[in-house]
Amino acid sequence: MKVSMIVPCYNEAENIALFQNAAIAAFSDCKYDYEIIFIDDGSTDATLQQMRKSFHEQRCPIKVLSFSRNFGKEAGILAGLKYASGDYISIIDADLQQRPEIIVKMIRILEEKPEFDIVAAYQDRRGESKFLSMFKKLFYKLSNCLTNISLKSDASDFRTFRRCVADSILSMGEYHRFSKGIFAWIGYNTCHIPYTACKRAAGTTKWNFKKLTNYAVDGIIGFSTTPLRIATLLGTLTAVSALIYLVIVILQKLITGIDIPGYATIIVLILFLGSMQLFCIGIIGEYVGRTFEQSKNRPIYLTKEILIYNGSEK
Ligand code: UDP
Ligand code: MG
Repeated sequence: MKVSMIVPCYNEAENIALFQNAAIAAFSDCKYDYEIIFIDDGSTDATLQQMRKSFHEQRCPIKVLSFSRNFGKEAGILAGLKYASGDYISIIDADLQQRPEIIVKMIRILEEKPEFDIVAAYQDRRGESKFLSMFKKLFYKLSNCLTNISLKSDASDFRTFRRCVADSILSMGEYHRFSKGIFAWIGYNTCHIPYTACKRAAGTTKWNFKKLTNYAVDGIIGFSTTPLRIATLLGTLTAVSALIYLVIVILQKLITGIDIPGYATIIVLILFLGSMQLFCIGIIGEYVGRTFEQSKNRPIYLTKEILIYNGSEK
C-alpha cells in the first residue's frame, strides 16, 4: 500500500526539510510505502531551492512541481492529485501544524473500516484569534444555510482518502475551486477525527482577510444559486411595501385632505431602492464573472518545473 502526501507550499523555505524529516520519522516504523509531493505555489523565497535539495538528497520518494506564479492552495491540491500515484492520498500543510503521524492513524482507520472512504481531521481547539474564529463560524452558518451541501464548522483540508475519491475530485473541472465544498459534494463516507493544530514550525500564515473573504465567496457562489433568489425576494418585498405605502398615502389624502410633504421620503426611497439594485447587480455579477472565467477554459495552474523521484526530470 502506498500513500501520496500532497503538500502545497507557498513561501515555506524553512519548513521543507522539517516536513520531510517529520514525514520520514512518522513512516519509519510502519509498512506503508509513501511519496511526498511538494507543490511550490510560485514562492518568492527559497522554497523551490529547498525542494530541489530534498529531491536530490533522495532520502525518500519525492515529487516536486513548481508553478509559474502563485495560483493558490486549491490549485496546488489539484496538481498534487494529478501526480499522486498512491492507493491512499493525503492533503497536508507544510508548516507542521498538522502532524504527518496523524496520516498513519488515518490510513489505519481506512484499512480497518472499509465502510469509510475519507478520513477528515477537524480542529478540536482553535489556536487562532477570536475575530478570525468568529468570521469562520459566520461563514459556515451562512454557507450551510445558503447551499445544499453541509460543511463541518471546524473542518480542515487535512484529509486522507482512497484512490476513487481522488479520481472523483479530478473529474470536477471547476475553475474556482473550494475543496471543503468539493469534498461535501462528491459524497463518500467520511470519518471525522479530531486533531490539535500545533504551532507553525516556521514562517507566518499565508492567509489574510481579503484572501479569506474571496475564498468564502467562492465557497458560497460555487455551490449555490440561492443568493440569486435573494434578488427576486428583495424585489417582491419592495413591491409589496410600495403598494402598502400607496394605500396609506391615498387614505391619508381622503381622510385629512392634506398632501403629505414627501421630500425626505422620496430621497430615502431613492437611496434605498438604488442600493438594493446595486446589491442585486453585484450578486448577479459574481455569477456572471465566474461563468466568464470558467468559459475561457484557462488552465487552473501552470507548471514550470517538475521533478519526479524515479530519475526523470523535466
Ligand atoms: N499555501 C499555498 N498557496 C497559497 C497559500 C497557502 O500553497 O497561496 C499553503 C501554505 O504554504 C501551507 C498551506 O497552504 O502549506 C496552509 O497555509 P497556512 O499555513 O498559511 O494557512 P493556516 O494554517 O494559517 O490556515
Ligand atoms: Mg498553517
